[in-house]
Amino acid sequence: MRTEGGGTRSGAETDGAKTSGATSGGAVGAGNAAEAAPNNHGQPPAGLASELRQAYSMGFTRSVPWRQAQLRALAEMLRAGAGALSEAMADDMGKPGTEAWLTDIASVRRDIEAMARLLPRWAAPQRRQVPWQLWPARAQVVPEPLGAVLVIGPWNYPVRCLVLPVASAIAAGNTVAAKPSELAPATALTLSRLAQEHLDSRAVRLALGGPEVAQGLLEQRWDHIFFTGGTRTGRVVMAAAARHLTPVTLELGGKNPAIVDCTAAQSHAARRVAWGKFLNAGQTCVAPDFVLVDRRAEGPFLEALTSHVRHFYGEDPVVSPDFGRVVNGAHLERLTGLISATKGRVVAGGRAVPDQLYLAPTVVADVGWDDPLMQEEIFGPVLPVVAYEDIDDVLATLAEREKPLAVYVYTRDRRLAERVVAETSSGGVCVNHNCVQLAVPSLPFGGVGASGTGAYHGKAGFDTFSHQKAVLRSPAGAEVPVMYPPYGRTKRWLLRKVV
Ligand code: NDP
Repeated sequence: MRTEGGGTRSGAETDGAKTSGATSGGAVGAGNAAEAAPNNHGQPPAGLASELRQAYSMGFTRSVPWRQAQLRALAEMLRAGAGALSEAMADDMGKPGTEAWLTDIASVRRDIEAMARLLPRWAAPQRRQVPWQLWPARAQVVPEPLGAVLVIGPWNYPVRCLVLPVASAIAAGNTVAAKPSELAPATALTLSRLAQEHLDSRAVRLALGGPEVAQGLLEQRWDHIFFTGGTRTGRVVMAAAARHLTPVTLELGGKNPAIVDCTAAQSHAARRVAWGKFLNAGQTCVAPDFVLVDRRAEGPFLEALTSHVRHFYGEDPVVSPDFGRVVNGAHLERLTGLISATKGRVVAGGRAVPDQLYLAPTVVADVGWDDPLMQEEIFGPVLPVVAYEDIDDVLATLAEREKPLAVYVYTRDRRLAERVVAETSSGGVCVNHNCVQLAVPSLPFGGVGASGTGAYHGKAGFDTFSHQKAVLRSPAGAEVPVMYPPYGRTKRWLLRKVV
């Protein structure tokens, strides 16, 4: 099947795109991906934006049935490729199989299937009211694709953070180039092979390589850039986009606080924090970065936390099949450096096995706001716990810091929960849980301030990759002569009455 109303394409059908894919440096998704992407240090794929814009101008991506077929093909790609992707993520960062399936594959597939189902409703023009003075004109908002868009993904959720924005871009009717992170090279290669097998390569292309490929892509003119990664790189992306006045979505990180007050069910709060923090070895953008615990609850909370960590990963988490690894030596060194530098007290973990890129789930108590652990996003399995006396001080201090991607509060006090919702600013808030807010496709997911700009997931993703075009249809010939000059006294009087 191909093009309008079509679905996946066979190799024979993708010939034109195959040639261009192979000749555009590290760009694959056309032709034999394994051959086209023999290394992850390819030259920036020159002209990819123009190729994809040309494909866009052919018009086939505007067809809603084509988009639905591509989304279903993408979901099928995740179903058929689940094993290979899971193995690749294990190779790249020791991601535990169940975690990989849950966070990068099954939930993403579910969201894409829902997108395909809901797309006709999202893509339909919406009527708007017209002021009576302009009757009988009719007004509509017509969602329009943006054109050729670029998606740049990170390594920590290398499937989720690439495939979901790509799905949103397709849903909105765009052609899309996607650059996976070279720090997850096996996953990048597997994704490119699967994309070539399952997707229409005229419209969806993967560009393999590292920052130099990303830079090469950023020099080209795109109609939207969707970036997920660190704040520092986010600045580079925004500066590059400014050259072409290209709009950007930046999905960045930040230091997410988890407030645990003394009314919280301590064991329940501790279990959820331990799960959210040590998932993917702490390398999760929405993980609680640090805990702020009411001093009166500090003892029971710490006890429950360490006990849940033991229960999850055993006495020696290095042998647990459910505990991941740090992505590379540089990050491991950074994290062990933070543990050495902290003035806090390590109450669990702390052990590293560098040749296995292992760092034990580590809890550090008695941490102050000025501690080295409290400066930058930790992005690893190290959890500082700061005890507080006064919630007002906590909220005031949080308000002074950069806005995080998420704020969590564990409490049975509804008023406190509402204060946290109202008095903190972050991408999202979760009361009595963490991380799972992003499993709700009807909630927009994105940051604010330093944690990002723009959002996606579900309809929000469709909107991000669409232009909401305002259309007013006025019947030919129907006239209100009073609006045209010359404006004599009567017309002026009438205008004043009417407008
Ligand atoms: P980086 O910012 O290092 O990299 C993200 C992407 O940008 C990668 O594809 C990377 O390529 C590329 N890149 C690196 N340098 C440049 C450059 N100079 N110009 C253009 N592109 C470049 O982030 P990480 O991959 O390390 O991801 C971790 C960060 O991402 C954390 O801060 C985390 O919080 C955040 N994040 C946010 C999420 C969200 O949804 N808000 C989700 C997941 C992570 P390569 O890797 O190949 O070098």
